[in-house]
Amino acid sequence: MLFKEIIGQELVKQNLIQTVNAERISHAQLFHGKLGYGSFALALAYTQYIFCTNKTSQDSCGGCASCLKISQLSHPDVHFSFPVQLEAKKKTSDDFVSEWREMIQNSAYSSEQDWYHKTGNENKKGLIGVDESKRIAEKISLKSYEGGYKVSLFWLAENMNAAAANKLLKLIEEPPEKTLIFLCAESIESILPTILSRTQLIKVSPLNDAQISQGLTEILGADNQRATEIACYVNGDFSLATNELEMGEEKSFYFDSFVSWMRLCFKKDVAGAVKFVAEVQKMGKEKQKAFLLFVLSVFQKSLMGNFVGMQNVKATEEQKKFIQNFMPYIHERNIGHLHEIMSEAYYHIDRNANAKILFLDLSFDLFKLIKK
Ligand SMILES: [Zn+2]
Repeated sequence: MLFKEIIGQELVKQNLIQTVNAERISHAQLFHGKLGYGSFALALAYTQYIFCTNKTSQDSCGGCASCLKISQLSHPDVHFSFPVQLEAKKKTSDDFVSEWREMIQNSAYSSEQDWYHKTGNENKKGLIGVDESKRIAEKISLKSYEGGYKVSLFWLAENMNAAAANKLLKLIEEPPEKTLIFLCAESIESILPTILSRTQLIKVSPLNDAQISQGLTEILGADNQRATEIACYVNGDFSLATNELEMGEEKSFYFDSFVSWMRLCFKKDVAGAVKFVAEVQKMGKEKQKAFLLFVLSVFQKSLMGNFVGMQNVKATEEQKKFIQNFMPYIHERNIGHLHEIMSEAYYHIDRNANAKILFLDLSFDLFKLIKK
């Protein structure tokens, strides 16, 4: 991965490049931000830049032996760890590496859900277990194959269990010579405070709409209008944007779902709600989460429409038309409550709540809340 292949994040890139050129690379760094913002893509490009034997002051060359090996994710001194769904005989990333490599080579922005989809088990969260930390400890205690750095890169480090984290902490505290440990994490609440305090934090922020839209057109060949439309509601997450694009060029799936949901909530249509919920259940967890964020964004746009006028609200023409009629129903008397139930729903979906029950409850709440 070259830095120039990464969407946006210019400041982070410059800071990383600077550490290499000034020979001030911290041995433990934590890239905090969604995979869809580019947290892993940045760590990968950084690693490649460190190893490149023909780099410029701004990027890797892309053509030297090190660059080629890293772009194939098969450099002998770069080790990847990622959550796996543990089985009796498959306990570490090595047991799943060819599938994972294939996914990352397809897109360095791939999400956790993309991974579980690929392994065919979407409803079970993967784990980085203690066998993985042991494996890494063994690997990085060896001499490097090529005489330079050894890098251990964790994809979704928050999925590490306590035993694995304690073992990793020892490595961070007493790293073998010329060893770098890079962690990528979407959330840091579940990462050991002792690990946090010993790693340099690199904050990776959401992309802006223009960057998402540009990524969709330039990398994935989307047409301009569709790209702009998707960028409006994916909250700066390029992997969500990619999924949305793949879901179909013709329709805005979340928007259509939102409109039908609100219509049946107006009518207090219980049978309709049950049918709707069955459709939502088929979406799978990640799309349900994205859908909830989308719903929240339309609520916010409606409220803004009330305050500053629709001409100042960013949305597609189709959405504006809908919001114009919808916005009298969103106001300061219900927005707080709406925000609360949607955020709570997001929290519970993320922790594997039953989507059917949850969205049905939400529908009944909306029956009551959506009114002038
Ligand atoms: Zn190179």
